[in-house]
Amino acid sequence: MKHEEATVNVEQRGKLYEGKAKIVYATSDRNLVVQYFKDDATAFNALKKGTIVGKGVVNNRMSATLFRRLAKAGVPTHYVGTLSDREMLCRRLDIIKIETIVRNVVAGSLAKRTGLEEGTPITQPIVELYLKSDALGDPMINEDHVRMLRLATPAELAWMKRTALRINAVLRPHMLKRDLILVDFKLEFGRGAGRKLYLGDEISPDTCRLWDRATREKLDKDRFRRDLGGVEDAYQEVYRRLVGEPTDA
Ligand code: UDP
Repeated sequence: MKHEEATVNVEQRGKLYEGKAKIVYATSDRNLVVQYFKDDATAFNALKKGTIVGKGVVNNRMSATLFRRLAKAGVPTHYVGTLSDREMLCRRLDIIKIETIVRNVVAGSLAKRTGLEEGTPITQPIVELYLKSDALGDPMINEDHVRMLRLATPAELAWMKRTALRINAVLRPHMLKRDLILVDFKLEFGRGAGRKLYLGDEISPDTCRLWDRATREKLDKDRFRRDLGGVEDAYQEVYRRLVGEPTDA
């Protein structure tokens, strides 16, 4: 298999899992998988479905760039290498069924839950936990629920929360330099070989709210969720600011 940085001695095998936006394939190395990024988009627990042309390329390339940056800052991630525009070679993780959300500015469900206006700054970033369950619609949970459901050990959860805030401390200023406000984002963590914890999944406009610094224009999946138009252009703009030239797709 050819990786953009080197040739690795692994072959792609059968599909392990197909999600809404990605497909995961096994490889000949039991500790490695391939994440394939699709253009399919869903929102509101898959009630709304559509396609965002070129999204898979943007999400794959942007995630790779940010995972490399996080690795340099000492955050362990599942990223191993980039195979192509839509394929990422990753460590195989046993994903912890918790969505960890970090927030810097009030938006989305936090605005609804608190009545605070969207756009209100949050002085000290907050971390929220949600149960990763399509059947239940990803309900918010707390540390006691995590313990009751045996989703993670107290030590794992403490590491996840600490790491989520470290990731925010790396990404927020990085994005601001590129005129993007990192409003909030979702992370998934998992256990790799020897139960060591890694950041998994992706970091992209599907999983982050990103606003233009000057105009506060939304440059993320909210354009799709809220039918604001210009969805593809927003993804390409984020790509341009964080990765480089726009993709051809
Ligand atoms: N998010 C995500 N996947 C989910 C739920 C949320 O990637 O299943 C991201 C979302 O893009 C946003 C952040 O997590 O950047 C916070 O989302 P929120 O709780 O406000 O939920 P929403 O109102 O978007 O459903």
